[in-house]
Amino acid sequence: MFISLCRSCGTPAAALMSFSYDGAEVWLDDLSTPSQSEGGVALCSQHADTRTAPVGWTLTDRRRASDRHLFIPLEPANVA
Ligand SMILES: [Zn+2]
Repeated sequence: MFISLCRSCGTPAAALMSFSYDGAEVWLDDLSTPSQSEGGVALCSQHADTRTAPVGWTLTDRRRASDRHLFIPLEPANVA
């Protein structure tokens, strides 16, 4: 099992930043996602959170952050 290190500070990385130069898009993904383990730039969560897209680019955060439960839709409680 390999451990990626943050490109900025050298601590164990938690996210992977990848690019689409054609679409001018930047993505942040969980580094634990198997298919995302190669390519892109490894970042710790702190640097991933503070990363911004270049001017004219779109940054999409696709991480399923465990501390973002606020964004999980609530189940309807009274459907019946
Ligand atoms: Zn870092």
